Formats: sequence, C-alpha cells, structure tokens
Amino acid sequence: MNRGAIAEINLPAIAHNLKTVSKAVKKRPVIAVVKADAYGHGCIEVSKRLIQEGASSLAVAYISEGILLRGAGIGAPIIVLFDCEDIDNFFDFDLLPVLHDTTTASALSRVAKKRRYTIKVHVKIDTGMGRLGLNGKHIIEDIVRIANMEGIELAGLMSHFSDADLSDRSYAAAQLKQFNMIREALCKKLKKRIISHMANSAAVLNFEDAHLDAVRPGLMLYGYSPLSYNPNPPDNPPPPPLEKGGKGGFESGGHDGIINSESIILIPAMKVKTKILCMRNFPPYSPISYGRTFITKRQSKIGVLPLGYADGYNRLFSNNAEMLVRGRRVPVVGRICMDLTMVDLTEIGDVREGDEVVILGQQGNESITAHELAWKTQTIPYEILTSIGSHSKKEYIHES
Ligand SMILES: *Cc1c(COP(=O)(O)O)cnc(C)c1O
Repeated sequence: MNRGAIAEINLPAIAHNLKTVSKAVKKRPVIAVVKADAYGHGCIEVSKRLIQEGASSLAVAYISEGILLRGAGIGAPIIVLFDCEDIDNFFDFDLLPVLHDTTTASALSRVAKKRRYTIKVHVKIDTGMGRLGLNGKHIIEDIVRIANMEGIELAGLMSHFSDADLSDRSYAAAQLKQFNMIREALCKKLKKRIISHMANSAAVLNFEDAHLDAVRPGLMLYGYSPLSYNPNPPDNPPPPPLEKGGKGGFESGGHDGIINSESIILIPAMKVKTKILCMRNFPPYSPISYGRTFITKRQSKIGVLPLGYADGYNRLFSNNAEMLVRGRRVPVVGRICMDLTMVDLTEIGDVREGDEVVILGQQGNESITAHELAWKTQTIPYEILTSIGSHSKKEYIHES
C-alpha cells in the first residue's frame, strides 16, 4: 500500500486556464509560475504541457527546480525567481537569474567574464512588497551599473504586488506607478526597451494596467482565482458555492475593474482521492479518535481513511471538513491522525471498503474546492494545493 492520497492532475484544465489567461491579457507572453512543484501539481508534466500550449517561459524559485526541468528535456526559457547560490548553474543549465542586489550581479559578471559569455538577467525591484528587490535612492544608478557590467545583459525588469487581489487598488496602483517611473528612467538612460513584468494572477484578473509586456501568473493556471477568497472572516462571507460541472474557483464578487469577468472560467486541475481502508460500526456514545473530540450520537458507520496530517491533510480539518463519498458530502469526525482520518458514513447507504473518497475536487455533482478547505483552516488555496498536492502520488490526465 502506498502512503497518502492520489492527486489526479487534469492537464487539459491547465491548458484551458492558460488560454484564459492569454485571452485576458490580450495574448501577451505568459511566464508560467511553476515553483513549489507547480503548486503541488508536479512541475515536469505541468511545465511540459504549459510550454506545449504556448507559455513563453517558466518561473521557478530554486536553481534545483530549473535543473530538474532541464533534465526532463524542457528547453524553454526558465527564470529563477530568487535563488542565486550556485552561479555556475545559470550557465551550465541555461537558466535566467533574477538579481535583487548588486553584489550578486558583480559575482555573476565575474563568472561570465571568465566563461567569455554574456548572460541574460532579470532585475527585481521592490516597489512595496517588502520582500526581495532593489530599492532606495540609488536604484536607477544601481540598475544601470548592473546593466553595464561585463558579461551581463539586462533582459527584464520585474516587481511583485503585495495586494493586487483587493478591490481597493490604491496600493497596487502606487506600486505600479513607482515601477513605471523606474522603468522609464532606465529605458532613457540605457537607450533601450526592457521587457517588464509585474502581474501575478490577481493583477491579471484585477488590474489591466499592470499587464505590461508579459504576465507572471501561478495560481490561475491551476484553476483558482485569488480574488474570490479573503481570509478575514467574519466580515467576509465564506467562499461561494461551487458551480456545477467542475468549473469554479472564480467569483467576481462585484469587483470593479476585473478583466473580462464574464469570460473567465477557471477549471481546478487537481482532484485528490483516497479509498476507504476500513468500515466500522459503532453504537451511540462511542468516542472517535484522539482526545474523544467526537462522540457518536447514534448507531454510526465510520470510515477509516489512510490519510493524515503527514500527508498534508491539515490537523485543523479535525471535525471541520467534508469529503465526498458516492457523490455525497460526508463529515470528517474526530481528530486527524498522522496517517489516518475518520469520516461519518452513516448517511451513505451502499458504501464499501475500497470505495473512492474525494478530499479535493469533484465526484458526481458535488465538489470540494481549495477555497473551501482554505476557508476552514484560515489559509489560502495556495497552501491547500501545495500541502496536499506535494504529499500525494500524482496521476496525469492528458486528454479530456
Ligand atoms: C509566486 C509568484 C508569482 C505568481 O503568483 P500567483 O499569485 O500564484 O499568480 C508571480 N511572481 C512572483 C515573484 C512569485 O513569487
């Protein structure tokens, strides 16, 4: 028996989502973000499909991820969003570094000179995200200095939004304004156009002015919108109920300024399933799992599932989530254990050991989205997908 669940990854859904992005940004190049193993979907298969479907390039966080993709035969441009630890790899594996300081730029230049090679780089500027990137009074001079270093060609300029998912776009607009000012000053000084990209999924959907020369979506490609979720209950209602037919994950929620909101339908690409390991009958007043946090109220049929928090199924789902069995919702009962979880199957008539249980995704007419699970554990769909996805064995659907 393999541990954990199976994540079925629907590649045609990813292809559809990429087309949707491409349409929303009027065919601008799409730099597909496949960091964290393509948000838990498996970066090799997903990247191959994204490139085949027209993504212009890929973005990863680590050099090692880039090397993995090269090893899988992927020849498209790969941008490494922050890791610059082992510089030789950029040359050996034809990866594009993102520079966020001048020291690394100098080191890169030295290696480039030694190799008699000119390496393309992207430079990141911090316009208010407060994470990585050049900033401060001397930013223009710093970037000009990098651009003029021997062996370095400034091929791209980028920044990252802090809150482009909000309907109040004032902070995002200020970030964009600053970015554009720096970009224009640089273009003038260097007398050339520099490809610029700033839009994550939220800005693709919510902020057309930020589409610039290329866009850099992640989450959308996997079928979820960052806009339909706001992690601050109780002022915000829970995520909307799911649309039938496996579509969903996107709800305009009365946002103004959404790009083509009518035509945007994203299809979640991940379905996670397991099987009933064992069925137990319990009389009323029986405690279930650690700490006796659930006590049966009636004669109950309890399913034991081979899945737990060691498989990325958060312990906060204890008594606090639902799964799908025979196309119907069943509650998780008692505490999630390291390797096991219990569900109440009393309401489900014809159910057997070995039956499929869906943790995330669709079964029959019901579905459980990453938004729903995120809502229940006070997190975001990103964390649900990466944690459950990365722990599951992947199976790929290539054709719809
Ligand atoms: C993760 C990431 C993205 C993609 O963000 P989404 O919200 O998933 O679209 C884009 N740019 C950078 C720098 C990132 O780290």
